[in-house]
Amino acid sequence: MEPTTIYPASIVYTMDPSQPTASAIAVRGDRFCAVGSLEELCSIENHEVNDSLVNKILLPGFVEAHSHGMAAGLWLHTYCGFFDRSDPNGVLWPGCKNIDDVIARLRDAESSLTDPNVPLLAWGLDPIYFSGDRLIGSHLDQVSTTRPIFVLHASAHLATVNSALMQAEGITSEIPMEGIPKDGNGNPIGELQEFAAMSLASSAFRSFFGRMQSQEAKWDLGHLANRAGITTLTDLGNPSSTRQTTIDEWREVVDHDDFPARFFIFDTPATSQATSETIFSIQEQSSAKLRLGAVKVILDGSIQGYTARLREPGYLDDRPNGIWVFPPEQLTELLRPFHESGLLVHVHCNGDEAVDVFLDAVETLLNEFPREDHRYTIQHCQLTTPEQYERIASLGMCVNLFSNHTWYWGDQHVASTVGPDRASRMNSARTALDSGIAISMHCDAPVTPLGSLHVAWAAVNRQTASGLVLGPEECISVEEALHAVTLGAAYQLKMDTEIGSITSEKFADLAILDEDPYTTDPRNLRDIPIWGTMLGGRIFPVG
Ligand SMILES: [Zn+2]
Repeated sequence: MEPTTIYPASIVYTMDPSQPTASAIAVRGDRFCAVGSLEELCSIENHEVNDSLVNKILLPGFVEAHSHGMAAGLWLHTYCGFFDRSDPNGVLWPGCKNIDDVIARLRDAESSLTDPNVPLLAWGLDPIYFSGDRLIGSHLDQVSTTRPIFVLHASAHLATVNSALMQAEGITSEIPMEGIPKDGNGNPIGELQEFAAMSLASSAFRSFFGRMQSQEAKWDLGHLANRAGITTLTDLGNPSSTRQTTIDEWREVVDHDDFPARFFIFDTPATSQATSETIFSIQEQSSAKLRLGAVKVILDGSIQGYTARLREPGYLDDRPNGIWVFPPEQLTELLRPFHESGLLVHVHCNGDEAVDVFLDAVETLLNEFPREDHRYTIQHCQLTTPEQYERIASLGMCVNLFSNHTWYWGDQHVASTVGPDRASRMNSARTALDSGIAISMHCDAPVTPLGSLHVAWAAVNRQTASGLVLGPEECISVEEALHAVTLGAAYQLKMDTEIGSITSEKFADLAILDEDPYTTDPRNLRDIPIWGTMLGGRIFPVG
């Protein structure tokens, strides 16, 4: 019989209702084979005791059910976000607190580029934080009037570009397309909203996303996950996930013994029955670490970018309603073949109007073709009303809330986008749980940094960056939040029989902490140090 390794710990939180806590785990191969006390487990034949986790707090490895494969690759470009942020090597980059900071950071990066034809590529920008004039293309002209500059926003749904880029790519007042705001004279201001408009910045857009596909960027994603205690990540979604080269490149990294996480790639499909068959067929290529063959659809944009689709009364500061990234009248038709072939489908709906469209589609499809245990999941689900939650519950759907939004954009939502009442109901985890809905919570990295403890902290405290508690009625307990980022997330990925709790037969995946999240002051939950992870029985200390 294979030898068993027993790890005594300070305490083990299992997420398993029949035995919520323990003091030791036993691992055989890549699975847990028993959970209990050291004394109990020592009766296992052919075992050895490993004391390396004896002072540690063990939780199931965190599961991030909404992140992106490019979360680490962005660090190959210049960071100019508002908040301080750590790169994959653990180096902290200070946030850019005003327009001058952004210009200074970009000038610095520009001066290190030797080839005058190479575009300057940057990310993390969000003009909503800066008072006074909105940061637009003319500000970037202060960095260079000759070199094209492309700056992706924090939401990843918008970009700001300079005049040189617009000139090179022919982005003029003539282009009859949504998502290119103009000034009083009818000239584009240098903002490209949503993917169709952003792709007009063709050569900069291609090199921006091209460099992030490197194998180095994939390895860095594993480093970011390890620092956050995350053992299962997602790429939600990938427009080329059915391409064999995409699968092979990810497999080379993810299936390597040294890569510290499982990785589930969702496809972002266009349409047609053929797509459904292809997505279904790539499931066969899944491994214990690499998962393939699920669907993600993006319906609307982002609230802080004013591109999410809102019900009446729309945006508070009188902007036009957002952008449909996918035509709402075609959603049912798009989903029908996925529904009938039993694929797992998650749909991005930031605004409450987008949620209505998804609910209508699911109701129609379930009436036509009843399906058990579908786990249709609303991604973000930020402005959802209590009545919509009732409908979500009755349709048996799940929600994955963007709880980090309260911290990163809560103040802006109160002041500018939706006002205090709707901001208070954003990411309403309490209402969702009380409605009997299976929830998870996510960071949407790179939109906000990978970090399940931060995500949980945000749902427990609902604190904004200025210190306001936004909708205290919607706070949930530490226990509920940690369940949401472990077993709750695993459930939405249909991986709950394999991961998400410390239960015999499941993969031996752990988040290994230096302090106990259940006894720490909940206000400090996000500051608990991560010592490392265990993946499939192998320990990965934070390096
Ligand atoms: Zn996303």
